Amino acid sequence: MKTIELKIDGYERVASRVDRDYHGLIAIHSTKLGPAVGGTRFWKYENDEAAIKDLLRLARGMTYKNALAGIPFGGGKSIVLRKDITVDREKIFRAHGCFVETFGGSYITAEDVGTNPDDMAIVRRETKHVAGLYGLSGDPSPFTARGVFCAMQAAANHRWGSDELAGRTIALQGCGNVGCHVASLLHKAGARLIVTDVDPAKVDRLVKEFGAVAVAPDEIYGSDAHVFAPCALGGIINDETIPQFKIEVIAGGANNQLLEERHGDELEKRGILYAPDYAANAGGVINGCRELLNWEASQSLAKVDEIYDTVLAIFGTAESEGIPTYKAADHLAERRLQNRER
Ligand code: NAD
Repeated sequence: MKTIELKIDGYERVASRVDRDYHGLIAIHSTKLGPAVGGTRFWKYENDEAAIKDLLRLARGMTYKNALAGIPFGGGKSIVLRKDITVDREKIFRAHGCFVETFGGSYITAEDVGTNPDDMAIVRRETKHVAGLYGLSGDPSPFTARGVFCAMQAAANHRWGSDELAGRTIALQGCGNVGCHVASLLHKAGARLIVTDVDPAKVDRLVKEFGAVAVAPDEIYGSDAHVFAPCALGGIINDETIPQFKIEVIAGGANNQLLEERHGDELEKRGILYAPDYAANAGGVINGCRELLNWEASQSLAKVDEIYDTVLAIFGTAESEGIPTYKAADHLAERRLQNRER
């Protein structure tokens, strides 16, 4: 197998490995705070440049997410390029495990879009530098949802002077793993729910269980609600959706919610309070510390709950420095990296 090292400014190591059945890319953005942790995405891209662009953005995002979450990990990511519809996962993920192993523990992988615990079990046969295995930290989504709920409470506090979500209306996009747990927490807290998903069965469940009101996928952006909670796709805060918003707060679990940074500036101009995605959705990676650092469940739950304080601090910094919240989150993460605070 041939490994090619790619020299990319601002990244500690980026490498590509190709053989007959496998093409993998691994990027380490930073190990300043500890070994780089970030999942393996198994995805089809238009071309290799598009895959590398995504890889670099995701690896950097993990550095910022882990720094803000206050966990002793740096940021990295891997992509396995998906070529055909029929794939031999055994061959592919064994090859990926061998590639991860060559990083000697400076990169630790786990699941991401397109991979699952079965794939990680295959990776584990070649390297011990893998998390997300069966019987260990388990499904991250309830923890991600708990963090999103904390971020929403912090936003409520900053905007309305109280953490209370009872009586507030939340427009929830995506009723999948994270979305359904967010819905459950909100229902328990006495919030009203407007929900959507492209899968009607998932919507029906929340309508029946929590008395949610269902709307069509395109209608969620114009919902008459206090909070928009994106828990499906990235890029949903954009030129088309922003003019439809009647909400005052955005707090959700989806990654890369702003299509471009300027959309974060636009939210600021319109007075919409945005809880930066990577601060709000860190609960899953924090839960991974049970597996990676042998944390007790109570320790990781307490750390997830700190998302409340982090998000409040971001809002405070944004206000005092007169900058949008996404920039305040970046600044806070960069400060932690500079000071190597763990
Ligand atoms: P999931 O696949 O279980 O749920 C996503 C849901 O969104 C699905 O039900 C899907 O049908 C729905 N959906 C897709 N397109 C839609 C559209 N146009 N309109 C409405 N609904 C749509 O995924 P998940 O694990 O719940 O993750 C949701 C988001 O949170 C993703 O962006 C993911 O990257 C991010 N995230 C998840 C975790 C985690 O712990 N699972 C952690 C951090 C970030």
